[in-house]
Formats: sequence, structure tokens, C-alpha cells
Amino acid sequence: MQKIATVSEMRQIARELRAKGGRIALVPTMGALHAGHAALIQEARKSADAVVVSIFVNPLQFGPSEDVASYPRTPEADLGVCTDAQVDVVFLPTVEEIYPRGYSSYVTEEAYSKPLCGVSRPSHFRGVTTILAKLMNIVRPDCLVMGQKDVQQAAVARKMIADLQFGVDVVLVPTVREADGLACGVRTRGLTASQRQEATVVQQALAKAKEMVDSGVRSTDRLIAEVTHIIGQRRRVRVIYVSIVDSVTMEAMREIVPGKSLLMIAVWVDEVRLVDNLVL
Ligand code: AMP
Repeated sequence: MQKIATVSEMRQIARELRAKGGRIALVPTMGALHAGHAALIQEARKSADAVVVSIFVNPLQFGPSEDVASYPRTPEADLGVCTDAQVDVVFLPTVEEIYPRGYSSYVTEEAYSKPLCGVSRPSHFRGVTTILAKLMNIVRPDCLVMGQKDVQQAAVARKMIADLQFGVDVVLVPTVREADGLACGVRTRGLTASQRQEATVVQQALAKAKEMVDSGVRSTDRLIAEVTHIIGQRRRVRVIYVSIVDSVTMEAMREIVPGKSLLMIAVWVDEVRLVDNLVL
């Protein structure tokens, strides 16, 4: 496994991989790797000949009230995960390498990024699309492998890639969950045992919603009311949004179309922000 820190070296290695005729999959991450990331890497190995994992805590996707400095960083453990998963190249650039002094160019997607997390984190997706565009320019992958857990991020990435004609496929990997049903996540990991217990209400709400849809409920209002009610029973959990949207465009739907509608949930568990979703 090669460990690369500079853009020029990363470009050179990617060029060599392409010259061998291989397909390259890029797995963009912010590190603190867990089982969800490992599943992405596994899928990447199926979709391509060479796997590049980027580990970069992207300051641009953190809002003014969000602390980039306190985001967990576990580089040694991350390298272990990548070695075990037979990653070919790990790209770990510094902030200065990606955003040198005087940096002033950004990429924005202006439809799918607006609702849901776009409301409460207005600059977040601009940070995501900018870093993804840069990583795609550096690595020139054939596909990006992303997680269903952050499905709006993947939808925004797909739209930006299509609009800007990058010619890169987005492969979506189902959410990896822990034994209690919570999605594996960097933020979930930081919960105390009692916060974790409170947070499982999100999983209960998703399961109840799925049960209602399976029994024939199609009214999004009814489903949203039920999910909001379930979450509201936990004192330490506050709803940021509960919404039912089209899985491609992220637009709110009036009526549930099984297989096409997504239930999207974002909550605060005390001061920890969690998102989850389910295809209905
Ligand atoms: P992050 O490092 O949190 O920016 O996430 C990097 C990638 O891993 C994104 O595409 C996420 O959607 C994906 N990811 C994070 N958690 C999970 C999970 N529990 N299951 C599947 N994919 C995940």
C-alpha cells in the first residue's frame, strides 16, 4: 500500500495506474475509519482494479459553529484498516496542500443541496462538492464509492458530476449498522452509553415507518407525524428534520412511492448531530 501526501505524487501514481489499463475507484473519507468505511472499500475492490482511499478532514464542509479541530483523527488506526482491506493507495494531503494560501475557487450544486441538511448546514455541501471536484481532478477515478448513510451527499455528488460532465460513476453502498441498529459513524462513536440508548429511537422510528408503508400507508403527512411523535418521546433527542423525499432529487414528496421514497431523519442527541435514512 502506498501512502501519499502530495497532489503531484498522487497525480503521478494515478497516471501509472491508468497506464496499466486499470479502473480506479476512489473512496473519499474524513478518516477515523470504521466498519462503514471498510464496506465502501470492499465494494470499491469489486468495482475497480485499484482502490484509492482519501483521508482528509475537509475544513470547508464545517460550518462556523462546527469545530473542525475537534473532529476525531486516528491516522495510525486508519492505515491499519486500509492495509487490512488491501487498499492500493491512501491519499492523506494536508490542508495547505489542498487549500493553499489565497485559495478562492468553489464548486456548488444548487438544487439537491438546498433542502434537508442544506437548511441547517448552509455551507456544508459547497464544501463537499468542492473537495470532491478537486479529488476527482487529482485522481481521475472511474468511480466514487459513497455511503447510503449520507444519501443527500451522494445525491448532490451525482448531480454535480452529471452537470459538470466529470464522467465518473457513483457507487452507493448500503448503511452499515451496529448491533443496536445505529448506523456506524464517527459521531455515533462519540456518544455515551446513555446517549446511545436515547439515539436508538431513530432506528425504532425508521422501523415503524417501514412497517406502516408495508401495511399500505402512503400519506407522507401521516408517516412524518408518527415518526416525529416516536422521536419526541425521548427527552434528550430533538428533531432537526423528518422528511420524505424523492431518492434522486431530494425533493419532498406528498405521497409515498415504495422503492423511490426516502425517509430522512436528522436529530440532535444532546449536542451530537446524527443523520439516518431508509428507503421506504
Ligand atoms: P465520512 O468519513 O464520515 O466523511 O464518510 C465517508 C464515506 O463513508 C461517505 O460516503 C459516507 O456516506 C460513508 N459512510 C459513513 N458511515 C457509513 C456507514 N455506517 N455505512 C456506510 N457508509 C458509511
